[in-house]
Amino acid sequence: MTDSASSVDLVLDELGEGDNEFVYALDPKALVLEHEFFSFSSPVNVEVGVRRSINSFSLRGDVKWTLTGECYRCLEKMQELQQATFELLLQRRQASEEELASAEEDGFIEIVDPGTRRIDLADYVREAIVLEMPLRIPSQASAGECPHCGQGEGLVERDAQEQNDPRWDALKKIEFS
Ligand SMILES: [Zn+2]
Repeated sequence: MTDSASSVDLVLDELGEGDNEFVYALDPKALVLEHEFFSFSSPVNVEVGVRRSINSFSLRGDVKWTLTGECYRCLEKMQELQQATFELLLQRRQASEEELASAEEDGFIEIVDPGTRRIDLADYVREAIVLEMPLRIPSQASAGECPHCGQGEGLVERDAQEQNDPRWDALKKIEFS
């Protein structure tokens, strides 16, 4: 993957007032994305929209990536496109210890030193991906159908039914003394 970058660099001083758009192709290895069952078979695509107002930067990231893994039903190899978003309000200014602490707790606000020239959004991209990772392919999120076994549709319904299996009701009534 020679064309993919290893960071999501945003040069703050190069941003114009108002809306800015950037596109990145990231090497999944740089994001340290590893998973027991899936591999990341192509660059992670990130579109970042930044609305600047002097030293306040409102960011929105759209992240798309492809997972390769085995269908959990037929065990054939298949790919699934995944997507996630993240949002961040970046402020470049002096801040008190209390402000920094509360911003960190909030998670959506980041305050950086007035001298900061660039930031790397890789950690935000990584977090967005990790939070959206499916447990299996086809995932419930995409309601995708496996091209081999045709299964995948209706996973949500079926799971709900399994959880309401009447045979479990008897077990729930057993009291342990
Ligand atoms: Zn399948």
